[in-house]
Amino acid sequence: MESLKIAALIPAAGEGSRLGRGPKAFVELAGKSLLLRSVEAFQDEVAEVVVAVSPTMLDEAQQRLSGRARVIVGGETRQKSVHRLLLSSDADMVLIHDAARPFVSRVIIKDLISRVQQSGAASVAMPVADTLIEAKSGKVVARELLRAVQTPQGFRRSLILKAQEYALKQQLTATDDAGLVRLLGHEVSLVAGSSWLMKVTTPADFEMATALAFLWDERAN
Ligand code: C5P
Repeated sequence: MESLKIAALIPAAGEGSRLGRGPKAFVELAGKSLLLRSVEAFQDEVAEVVVAVSPTMLDEAQQRLSGRARVIVGGETRQKSVHRLLLSSDADMVLIHDAARPFVSRVIIKDLISRVQQSGAASVAMPVADTLIEAKSGKVVARELLRAVQTPQGFRRSLILKAQEYALKQQLTATDDAGLVRLLGHEVSLVAGSSWLMKVTTPADFEMATALAFLWDERAN
């Protein structure tokens, strides 16, 4: 099998304004920050971990992550932070993961890597359990056809860079990186996600994630 250099890229430069506890990546769950939880999950699976933080958090992040990850300054939007991360690495394959999802298992990382080796682009995604409706009309949307997209998402670095640069030129945005790759007309294969990949956004998410962190830390992940 071809030997690829793989990097984990973690955008963590958000303000966390909806959570209201300062920069979200540095908020702790059971004594460990969201960011450190993600870095630890990828550390042994990839050749390098690179993290993007806001300029004000650079020194602190470098100190806290010394020996585990390289830290760079992110951009004003998530897309710009990811672009900077992509330019800062020379890896053949990149796994992009939001620091806002602290519980990522090694099984998922390994599944994603093998899928990217096969198809060049893959994302973790979950079937939707709730009934979905259009808010205005109350019309039910067929949930069987839908997936909730999570991270990590993995790509050949050359492909996601091309997608980013195309989006930049055309002034297009997408809420995730796989969306940019689809704009190029390239397919993105889906890997089974997990409820553990919840995104910590609101104070209620934070309370749940805090309770879950104790359980997570007792398991072998
Ligand atoms: O705000 P949201 O939770 O959707 O952000 C997703 C991820 O993107 C977070 O890990 C956040 O830190 C990161 N981000 C970033 N640069 C920005 C905005 C968000 O790296 N300018």
